[in-house]
Amino acid sequence: MSRSDAVRHTDEKGDAGEGQALEERIIKFGQDHGADLIGFAPAERWDEYNEVPPDFRPRAIWTPAQTVIVMGIQMPLPVVETTPSVLHMELYKTVNRELDALGVDLMRYLNRLGHPAFFFPRDGYSSLAALKEKPFAAFSHVMAAKYAGLGTIGLSHCLLTREYGPRVRFVSVFTDAVMPAGTVIVEDLCTKCGLCAKTCPKQALKARKDTVIGDYDKAACLEMSEELTKRGCYPCGTCTKVCPIGKDRALYKQENMGKKYRGEATILAANPDAPDYKAWQHVRKYGSRSSARTNADRTEKRT
Ligand code: SF4
Ligand code: SF4
Repeated sequence: MSRSDAVRHTDEKGDAGEGQALEERIIKFGQDHGADLIGFAPAERWDEYNEVPPDFRPRAIWTPAQTVIVMGIQMPLPVVETTPSVLHMELYKTVNRELDALGVDLMRYLNRLGHPAFFFPRDGYSSLAALKEKPFAAFSHVMAAKYAGLGTIGLSHCLLTREYGPRVRFVSVFTDAVMPAGTVIVEDLCTKCGLCAKTCPKQALKARKDTVIGDYDKAACLEMSEELTKRGCYPCGTCTKVCPIGKDRALYKQENMGKKYRGEATILAANPDAPDYKAWQHVRKYGSRSSARTNADRTEKRT
């Protein structure tokens, strides 16, 4: 965050030193409670950028909002690589639970410090059916994380971070407290390598010439989620698995994986026991169904 950003934001509403001190307390609180990333976006940023429809902006949802605090928890790469698997599903569910607890805890902590706060859960939809009916949540954590300076939006529509690429999930807490703002990252982290589009099992992503963010067929992606939910190994997450961005790749010594990811579907279709994918395939084989449940299965369970 640049100093000028911090001053610009705090001069209007309060004391810069006070905002800085509160921010430091919140960072410590978030880190102590398991957040891997924390960022601060001033509520007016939604109006400055004018990319998000008015009803989906923080002050339209909760009028007192001055700052949106965005917290992220990483999805560690070796487990994401096993997708679709019960391991990946349990990681996803656990991170979601942790994120919601983190958001609620921070909301209560802010209250104890004398600041009203408002929590928006990590997904904001109750089921795939609800998402199918209305394919948006009431608030976008991806946009909030962008405005907090945590990353940039890639071809895949995911937020790419320097630390974990797209392998991170977010929750947001709105507060009336004014705090120094994160600096929005100007240079796109997405290299437009196209790996997410090439490996998407539903061809739901398509690169565009005019923008970094690609075309996204949400209905096709949802279809994939439905299939995997029936099998007990959702979500898909292939586009988050293959993205080369993120320092987590160096940590796990999993750089330059493009060839392996690109060839995976074709090689496994020809030989499900291909040695290069043996470990992932082993994990996938157990704990979830290899195909969606049939009506006969349901009848059998009822009797
Ligand atoms: S989650 Fe899967 S189906 Fe959806 S866009 Fe990403 S790769 Fe494609
Ligand atoms: S896989 Fe490549 S094109 Fe897709 S989001 Fe990541 S960097 Fe961008």
